[in-house]
Amino acid sequence: MQFGKCPGQDTRYWTHDDIFEDYCPYCGEEMEFWKTDLRVKCRNCGKKVVNQRFNLSCAAWCSFAEECLGSAADNLKPESIRKKIEDRAKDILPAPEMEELKKETEKAIDEVKTEKVNMPVEIGSIYFNAIAGAKGEEKAWVVVEEMRETGELPPQIAEGIKENLKNKYEYTERS
Ligand SMILES: [Zn+2]
Repeated sequence: MQFGKCPGQDTRYWTHDDIFEDYCPYCGEEMEFWKTDLRVKCRNCGKKVVNQRFNLSCAAWCSFAEECLGSAADNLKPESIRKKIEDRAKDILPAPEMEELKKETEKAIDEVKTEKVNMPVEIGSIYFNAIAGAKGEEKAWVVVEEMRETGELPPQIAEGIKENLKNKYEYTERS
């Protein structure tokens, strides 16, 4: 039986930002960091250098996250992020709209289950688009930023939601 490689760790899905070069803080040797490496050993001085951009955002949507990361993956699960976003949104949006959004979210989850999408970004975009619609785009941005700062949203997910907001609003402006 053959297991596929974890898609989050699969470099075919990486962007150019996911591998980057930096200098060893101990000896100045140029080093290459991959986002999934927590520490990289410097080939010149042999010291282990912590990767400043270590990123396991794949765990947020990957069904193998638990096997990969154990309980560290708990906070990154789509359900847990969804709950945090819903908790924020319900303070901002009226109850009937929240009910609609919950239904919309369930539907979106069913639809995108089989695709390689970032589920928390998809879920977040539903709520933040609604917040932007009701309270303005700026309010939506502020709340995303707040949730990123408090650690409720992992940075890459917050960025993904903002990207979607930006695309939506650019699109709306043009039509
Ligand atoms: Zn070094």
